[in-house]
Amino acid sequence: MTDLLIGGRWTGAIDERTREIRCPADGSLVAVVDEGGGKDAAEAVAAARQAFDQGPWPRTPAGPRGDLLLRVADLVARDKDALARAESLDTGKRLAESRLDVDDAVACFRYYGRLVRTETGRVVDTGTAHAVSRVVHEPVGVCALITPWNCPLPQTSWKVAPALAAGNTFVLKPSELTPSTAIALMRLLVEAGLPDGVANLVLGPGPEAGAPLTDNPDVDMVSFTGGLRTGRRVMAAAAGTVKRTSLELSGKNPNVVFADADFGTAVDHALTAVFRHSGQVCSAGARLMVEDSVHDAFVEAVVHRARGIRLGGPFDERAQTGPLISAAHRARVEAYVAAGLAEGARLRCGGTCPDDPALADGYYFLPTVLDRCHSGMSVLADESFGPVLTVERFASEDEAVRLANDTVYGLAGAVWSGDEERARRVASRLRLGTVWINDYHPCLPQAEWGGFKQSGTGRELGPGGLAEYRETKHIWRNTRPRPRGWFA
Ligand code: NAD
Repeated sequence: MTDLLIGGRWTGAIDERTREIRCPADGSLVAVVDEGGGKDAAEAVAAARQAFDQGPWPRTPAGPRGDLLLRVADLVARDKDALARAESLDTGKRLAESRLDVDDAVACFRYYGRLVRTETGRVVDTGTAHAVSRVVHEPVGVCALITPWNCPLPQTSWKVAPALAAGNTFVLKPSELTPSTAIALMRLLVEAGLPDGVANLVLGPGPEAGAPLTDNPDVDMVSFTGGLRTGRRVMAAAAGTVKRTSLELSGKNPNVVFADADFGTAVDHALTAVFRHSGQVCSAGARLMVEDSVHDAFVEAVVHRARGIRLGGPFDERAQTGPLISAAHRARVEAYVAAGLAEGARLRCGGTCPDDPALADGYYFLPTVLDRCHSGMSVLADESFGPVLTVERFASEDEAVRLANDTVYGLAGAVWSGDEERARRVASRLRLGTVWINDYHPCLPQAEWGGFKQSGTGRELGPGGLAEYRETKHIWRNTRPRPRGWFA
């Protein structure tokens, strides 16, 4: 088998281990892939180091680098159907959503392909006729790109595209649960003409194949997307050699609804916010906060609609959402709900696996609503990463802001109000990397994405996404060198 890409060569894992990838919707076998470890990671880093230090890519001008990214965008668009299918089989995600994820990847490669030509350095006024000062951008070096399983292709593209645009070489380590589109994307990079050793792929579990990338002295930067606990470990490991780290971590995102919001639209979005992809979205609006006067009616409407959500596999066109990624993850979500109930939350719907025999082989969990949640409960402190909505109530704008900010996370969230001024005021007071007003979930390649507080240190997308992968260097040139004479 040859699923690892090292130094331009497709190869198997050194220890010849393999892993079965199974579809979480029904347990069917999707693929058997190579499973690498520390030795494979070390080889991949050595290849990326050599390509950075001696290869042409870091010295290729921005124009041809951008052209290559635009070619990759075209190839991803060409293979949209196959990529979406592969993504759905690995993740259990509805095919319609996977198709949107492929569009997202195409837009990301196009965006950075164009941006890199315009984001140039600058000339600085030196105040003298005898010196020229320039500020230029250079690649950081060898980047370790580590990605999660929930949106594999977009998450990978958000790192690969800016890393390449800036002229870096990299080792990609996707989630061991969902490697298929990472393998396919690497094949497209090769087809687009990327020089050998610039893109390297290692597969395998985090502690074995990912951790060795985070403390390897030949790695200059770690860009990591995943859970908060893993992120802390990655940051600590990278500290030993003071690597640049870009962390995109967990969220527990408030969706704040004022009484003057458009009731029907806000209810509709409250459902999409949390139950899309069964809540396995970092920005899921898992924390519904509703103003007192509409609280009961609003929650009743959400519960009514949540009970009717149809579950099913990725290719079931009637399904509205799908399974969780694994049995272990479903057990974690179940434990999270149990803890909430033990702390005094009230179960309004869901809370168990469905009893439909057609879903028995998948890791399904019913859309769940817990109300009577309040500060101090662990059910509000932690991310479930499942189809679980917690509900809180508030009496005033100040209380809404205080409660929404009362968390270690700061990834994303929304405010719903018919009062434009209030919506803007609240949005600016929320300590979140992204705030939607009267909407939930949209994301643009040209606008930065990233968390405040413990939701991360990095920025993806937008010009800030490119800046993550660049060093900035000041070059001062004396055009008429003369002795200074200070120590004459
Ligand atoms: P995870 O932290 O378990 O794993 C993420 C990646 O890290 C995987 O590739 C894994 O193999 C690897 N890994 C695990 N241990 C490692 C270690 N010690 N050293 C190096 N790599 C290691 O996360 P997950 O369960 O795959 O993904 C879900 C989490 O990701 C959720 O918390 C979600 O909020 C977060 N997420 C965040 C964003 C964002 O943009 N902020 C986007 C998507 C997902």
